[in-house]
Amino acid sequence: MQPLITTEKVTFRYATEGGKSENALEDVSLAFYPGEFVAILGANGSGKTTLARHLNALLLPTSGKVFVRGLDTRERFNLKRIRQTVGMVFQHPEDQIVATTVEEDIAFGPENLGLPTSEIRRRVDEAIMAVGLEAHRQRSPHLLSAGQMQRLALAGVLAMRPDVVIFDEATTMLDPAGRRMAMELMQNLRADGVAVLFVTHDMEEAALADRVIVLNRGRVVFEGSPAEMFRHSQLDDWGLTLPPALALARRLRAFFPELPDVLTTPELLHHL
Ligand code: ADP
Repeated sequence: MQPLITTEKVTFRYATEGGKSENALEDVSLAFYPGEFVAILGANGSGKTTLARHLNALLLPTSGKVFVRGLDTRERFNLKRIRQTVGMVFQHPEDQIVATTVEEDIAFGPENLGLPTSEIRRRVDEAIMAVGLEAHRQRSPHLLSAGQMQRLALAGVLAMRPDVVIFDEATTMLDPAGRRMAMELMQNLRADGVAVLFVTHDMEEAALADRVIVLNRGRVVFEGSPAEMFRHSQLDDWGLTLPPALALARRLRAFFPELPDVLTTPELLHHL
């Protein structure tokens, strides 16, 4: 299977005034495939957002290359196709609002693609339903709660029907029901063959991923399954901690070795 996105030895340094800064990304080579559900984990400042922004050409590598469906992100004429292929939902959804009603805001992207009105309507209706904003169609986006704004930003991305959706800590403002909705949506997208990448520091959410990538000081220090990650001896060094339920289960296991294996694996988290 062809990867949707590849990064080849990507190194990135922010231009800062005066002072010397460390590289925010260092030698990052990764590939992302259709239908994958990938968690990008790491402590604050480890480079997660910087990486995410490279994947839809919001940032360009200082050295190395990023390809989206084989298109080099450094070529300006590839930009439109790259942005169509890779949708991104940010942590601060208010920055993504462009119109005066919820409906118009969602329609903005498809309109820019020059789609027929009937197709735009269909996509807007579908996206509004998917994020549960039906009751707010005609409202001003600026009157929405932070959680509703995140839903709106997500709907705007869904209406573009991208091949890759990146959530950059985009569920932080959602209440528990909203987070469940977002996780369900991610699973549905993936079932449709969309690659879903989510940047998080929530280890319980990461347990649901097919694959986990851990960044530490701009470098990829781990790539593998959630189960392998949870067993890794260097979690502390990377600034990550086991979800409380799993930590407790492992402690109990030390006293009661007869407890079933499932208690010490990430699968436990699916049953809570
Ligand atoms: P994360 O998303 O994992 O919290 P970031 O990608 O935001 O990490 O940051 C990686 C590194 O780059 C950090 O050291 C951070 O301080 C630095 N950085 C992030 N944004 C900027 C910026 N706009 N200018 C300068 N340095 C930045």
